Amino acid sequence: MSIADNVAQIQKRITAAAGRVARNPQEVALMAVTKTVAPEPIREAYAAGLRLFGENRVQEFAVKAQALRDLRDPEWHMIGHLQGNKAAKAVELFSGIDSVDSVRLAQKLNAAAQVSGRKLSVLLEINIGGEQAKSGLDPDSPELEQLLSAAPELDHLRMSGLMTVPPFSENPEETRPYFRRLRELRDRVKERNLSAVSLHTLSMGMSHDFEVAIEEGSTCVRIGTAIFGERRRA
Ligand SMILES: *Cc1c(COP(=O)(O)O)cnc(C)c1O
Repeated sequence: MSIADNVAQIQKRITAAAGRVARNPQEVALMAVTKTVAPEPIREAYAAGLRLFGENRVQEFAVKAQALRDLRDPEWHMIGHLQGNKAAKAVELFSGIDSVDSVRLAQKLNAAAQVSGRKLSVLLEINIGGEQAKSGLDPDSPELEQLLSAAPELDHLRMSGLMTVPPFSENPEETRPYFRRLRELRDRVKERNLSAVSLHTLSMGMSHDFEVAIEEGSTCVRIGTAIFGERRRA
């Protein structure tokens, strides 16, 4: 199967999953996760029509961005843990940071976006399963509250949604409650009509569980393996 075939298959599956819950498949963005993937296969995904891409390391992407600078209008997002000292570089390279997990990081990104005179789209990463080893904000943490209430001052950020990587399970049905919990959290925040916060995006679902994520309300699925094949271990 070529990358174009894989993309077509996934698009069909997105449409089917959305149809099962009477959602419009156009509401679900397909992000190609290109970490560890070389420029050539990324070009194939681009040629197959994809424009939204996710990377998880600033340094790795800095090199690839050079190799791919001729592509027109791709949208690159950072989806991995971002260290504060790389915030400025990340703002240069990415149009969105989907993994904001602390007030401090948000402040640094805001300052960097101000310097470059732009508005940066961000998602708040939520550690929905409360796993020790994972980054992301605890859904009940004071820090999440602080971030939401700091939104008006962080005026170079556009807080546009939530992102999560739930606990892994072979069986996507076991992951469903976590997806649902993220959607409910998003809905609760939305109902409060907080100033400068408009959490439309729900970035959830990966190669093995994106259909269940769509059934639970995902508006962005992040797919690596099902497009590019198994990654070699770093
Ligand atoms: C690697 C990665 C993905 C894609 O995972 P696949 O299982 O290869 O589809 C999605 N989201 C994040 C945050 C990742 O790091």
